[in-house]
Amino acid sequence: MKYTAVQNYINGHFVTPSTDRKLDVISPIDGNLLSTVPMSTNNDLNEAVKAAKAAFPAWSRTPIKERVQVFFRYKYLLEKNLKELAELCSEENGKTYSESVAEIEKCIELTEFAVSLPQLVTGEVLEVSKGVECRTEHVPIGVVASIVPFNFPAMVPNWTIPNAIALGNCMIIKPSEKVPLCCGRLAELLKEAGLPDGVFNIVHGDVEIVEAICDHPHIEAVSFVGSTKVAKLVYQRATKSYKRCLALGGAKNHLMVLPDAKPDMTAQNVAASMSGCAGQRCMAASAMIAVGNVDNIISKICDEAKKIIPGKNLGAVISQESKVRIEKYITEAEHQGAKILVDGRNVTVEGKEYGYYVGPTVIDYVTPEMSVAKEEIFGPVISIMRTETVDEALVIENANPYGNAASVFTQNGGMARYIIDRASAGMIGVNVGVPVPREPFSFGGWNESKFGVGDITGKSSIEFWTKLKKSTTKWNPEAGVNWMS
Ligand code: NAD
Repeated sequence: MKYTAVQNYINGHFVTPSTDRKLDVISPIDGNLLSTVPMSTNNDLNEAVKAAKAAFPAWSRTPIKERVQVFFRYKYLLEKNLKELAELCSEENGKTYSESVAEIEKCIELTEFAVSLPQLVTGEVLEVSKGVECRTEHVPIGVVASIVPFNFPAMVPNWTIPNAIALGNCMIIKPSEKVPLCCGRLAELLKEAGLPDGVFNIVHGDVEIVEAICDHPHIEAVSFVGSTKVAKLVYQRATKSYKRCLALGGAKNHLMVLPDAKPDMTAQNVAASMSGCAGQRCMAASAMIAVGNVDNIISKICDEAKKIIPGKNLGAVISQESKVRIEKYITEAEHQGAKILVDGRNVTVEGKEYGYYVGPTVIDYVTPEMSVAKEEIFGPVISIMRTETVDEALVIENANPYGNAASVFTQNGGMARYIIDRASAGMIGVNVGVPVPREPFSFGGWNESKFGVGDITGKSSIEFWTKLKKSTTKWNPEAGVNWMS
């Protein structure tokens, strides 16, 4: 085992949980055992909540301009430790080193946004009648929880950590049991940056601990990022105990390619979107709708896909189970009559024979009722459907239950606008394969890709991580009593 057993992080210290139940942490790159992760119990969660609750009064009363100083230093520490963090991220998740570098760079951008929060939460004040002032202030909620998935071991935690904590909350994070290592390093960097003990805590585990978080009477808000099935469970359970909850789910993102699209640029973007992070991005292109004759572009997409080599510029998928699931989807589509133009099944990487690799896969002549057209595959696979018109393409896009992202490739601005207006997704790209809004714009899908109000990052996250205090004051003796008094 390369690393010592993973521990919880409570009140500024790594602690051994009160459990013997643990899971192996396996590197998807070569199948090697990296560590073990504990499946914490309610007692462990209670300890973390106790620490967070104790830290809350002092942290929430620290002025925000002082609180964000921690994140100026944290940003510097992310930069200083970028290489080491990226290596750890690749090791536990399987993505390529350059993808992990991009992930840490995104953590830095997320932190940059958090340090700008004092400029955005100034509140409002107005003299509403003679000598009477109304004021609104954003105040922290209390102890909050963040439950995160495996596909971005550092970035998704940083969707919530800097904003929620800079806004004055104390947090408990539940990392994915598949990638628990990065969060521990983030805890060390937060402490080095000067975050007081108890403000940030980690409790590892699986279903049991997620359910305990949803039920805990002293956790005020829960954010969740993961599959739609679990997002629904978490949203229902957390709101049942009257918590505010924002639960981001899975995705099936459609790219619409029109005949006037720039062939080379489109092919490069489509191939990069479907294969980046081995297709394990909630913003990955998963379905492509070829509108009219775009055979020349499809042929270029295949050429681009063939340049993406497992173990070189394509990382591993998270587990053997995922590899089997993805390959089953491809085989099923083949049996149903789709045409496999580029086949990523049964690949092995020399020297990494025990790694979980799937090559880039391009499937053509997919029909909307096939499972590869409807379901989230979460692998480097693109399913191409063909339509005669943009409206037919929109019918397919609108019918899918998810709504994270959609993109159009065209040189016609009017047509792009037509599709922006009609696609049923929270994030739309025009000639962009992965239309992630950059800070300060917020991130969040629609439909079955998100449950709850608002978005998880950017300006929209302020509403989720704070509550509004409204005060009405009268200091002027001349103000008197009016019709409202
Ligand atoms: P997952 O839903 O299996 O797990 C997410 C978290 O929930 C983990 O911490 C896990 O321990 C916990 N969990 C798993 N099963 C549970 C259950 N039955 N009850 C309670 N908790 C449970 O997701 P994953 O496989 O880690 O991540 C991949 C999924 O996340 C994909 O569907 C992807 O689209 C989605 N995702 C969405 C976004 C977004 O912004 N919408 C971002 C990243 C990932």
